[in-house]
Amino acid sequence: MEHRHLGRTGMLVSSLSYGNWLTHGSQIEQDQATACVKAALDAGITTFDTADVYAIGKAEEVLGSALKGVRRDSIEIFTKVYWPTGPNPNNRGLSRKHIMESLDASLKRLGTDHVDLLQAHRYDYATPLDETLRAFDDLVRMGKVHYIGVSEWKASEIEQALVIAKDMGLDRIVSSQPQYSLLWRVIEEEVVPTCEANGISQIVWSPLAQGVLSGKYLPGGVIPEGSRGASKDANMVSRFLNDETLTAVAAYVALCKEAGLKPAQVALAWVLRNKNVASAIVGASRPEQIAENVGALDITLEDDFVAAIEAVLAPVAKFDPALTISPAERV
Ligand code: NDP
Repeated sequence: MEHRHLGRTGMLVSSLSYGNWLTHGSQIEQDQATACVKAALDAGITTFDTADVYAIGKAEEVLGSALKGVRRDSIEIFTKVYWPTGPNPNNRGLSRKHIMESLDASLKRLGTDHVDLLQAHRYDYATPLDETLRAFDDLVRMGKVHYIGVSEWKASEIEQALVIAKDMGLDRIVSSQPQYSLLWRVIEEEVVPTCEANGISQIVWSPLAQGVLSGKYLPGGVIPEGSRGASKDANMVSRFLNDETLTAVAAYVALCKEAGLKPAQVALAWVLRNKNVASAIVGASRPEQIAENVGALDITLEDDFVAAIEAVLAPVAKFDPALTISPAERV
């Protein structure tokens, strides 16, 4: 396993990490989740990503249980706060109150006394940023959180957080967690240059476009049994399941096969070519997927090949920085 520094910190993360959105506490049972976590550990993955909101807390419980007995200093656990975790007005957002309460609940569910990274899951337009950063800083000083990061923040919002942290002498953010794949390249124009200039890494989500870049979904609308596309959370992957996108993906898969490469491995190797990416967070519903995906670290993509796959996918890929956050998601 390759390890990379998280931003300008001394902490290393595995370049492939394991995330449990839509799987733990939802799509798969505890036994299968434990088998996936074991496969990740066996493959040398040390970084695990979750959130308070995944399966409304159940995902953290399942992950905590699967990691029981693993030396705490041999792994990095990341979680997040922002999305509603309960019915009350203060069960959401980035207020000091919710951050403190949410993190304590996360620690209990995960069975640990600290997380290595706490991420603001989205920007909170209803809370002053200095309140959020002060609360994060306090958690760092209390030893409950080692580093702080954000997810799906625009470049301008990241810059604003850096200025406030500097002015107030607070701990600064070291990571950004955006969606990034061959089909979703919206961070390239603004977020990556801003982060590169400020010692902030990307930890990217859905690097396989939720499984689409493995080539398992074909044009014509046939959804493989047992896949995310066939699950109750299919709406999350459905943005990619149209004939135009899947026809371009089929051309991508053909290029990979011609080169003797597996499409899922190519998709992961492609995001890791970007040196601002510290880790690609991969999900898995089965341990064999993890075994296949770590093979990405053994392949080298030639420039000509990269140009060819980018060319077939560019017409259906998203590049607009405005897609960093959907306004509909704003509180
Ligand atoms: P991926 O793009 O890696 O998709 C993972 C899914 O693809 C698996 O669950 C599996 O689904 C399928 N898959 C994985 N490997 C293979 C393979 N080799 N062949 C065929 N199918 C495969 O990432 P996710 O969308 O799961 O996101 C990863 C993580 O990112 C999350 O767990 C979470 O930690 C984080 N995340 C963060 C967000 C944020 O807002 N910050 C938002 C979303 C995710 P199946 O078998 O069911 O088809």
